Amino acid sequence: MEMAIRVISHDDVVQICMSTVIGRSIGYDVSAFLCRGVVVDLGFPLVARDFARYLASVHPAGALITHHHEDHGGNVELAATQGVPIGASDATLAMLREPPHLELHRRVIWGTPAPLRTPIVRFTSDALRLVPTPGHAPDHHIVWDAERETIFGGDLFLGVKVRTAHHGERPRELARSLRATAALRPRRYFDAHRGPVRNPVSALGAKAEWLDETIVAIERRIADGWSDRAIARAILGREDLAYYVSRGGMSRVTFVAQVRAEGA
Ligand SMILES: [Zn+2]
Repeated sequence: MEMAIRVISHDDVVQICMSTVIGRSIGYDVSAFLCRGVVVDLGFPLVARDFARYLASVHPAGALITHHHEDHGGNVELAATQGVPIGASDATLAMLREPPHLELHRRVIWGTPAPLRTPIVRFTSDALRLVPTPGHAPDHHIVWDAERETIFGGDLFLGVKVRTAHHGERPRELARSLRATAALRPRRYFDAHRGPVRNPVSALGAKAEWLDETIVAIERRIADGWSDRAIARAILGREDLAYYVSRGGMSRVTFVAQVRAEGA
């Protein structure tokens, strides 16, 4: 069987790129990172076997988890059974212990995570700090290495113009988190789905800017009484493959609905 894990070196940072055959065919993969002997994020359940072998071979000092989504914390139970100390916010740990119900497309793409049942040793690191950056998810954190001016951004960035959203997102909060992260002036930035991001300060700023403009345009039409669907069509364009794969869960119309809900 084809290996689900590919390892790419960026000086002192190892990118652990994970995908499945189906995932690759529709452009879905996710990366964890290894830095200072610490692994940031734990991949998704469908790559559990290869990831378990990888984890056992590198013997990390600890694992930091950016947020509870199944492509980031999906192998937490596996890491716990290997005795890897786990660092995550209380909110993230609570959701890893009681995973929320997953929509079908997410179970197909990433697999269904085993809930965290094994008692864990809590992990903290002075060099790698979890910084709250809500928006993508309420429990989202980045990992900030101040000495090396490096950020492991989880799902904070993903791209400048991300026109789709899921039901847990808060676009205004995301814009604030992007600005706070840019203010750290990172020299290097690693995105869980894009890998290294060039010129991270301007990329994060550009995304915050685009979000602000898009939110204002949406608010104006909400005030004029437009429907979510009409607003999505006018401002964000036609729905794409993600809409059909997720049956609307990950979509432009959800982006608009989230702006409306957050503003209400
Ligand atoms: Zn996520």
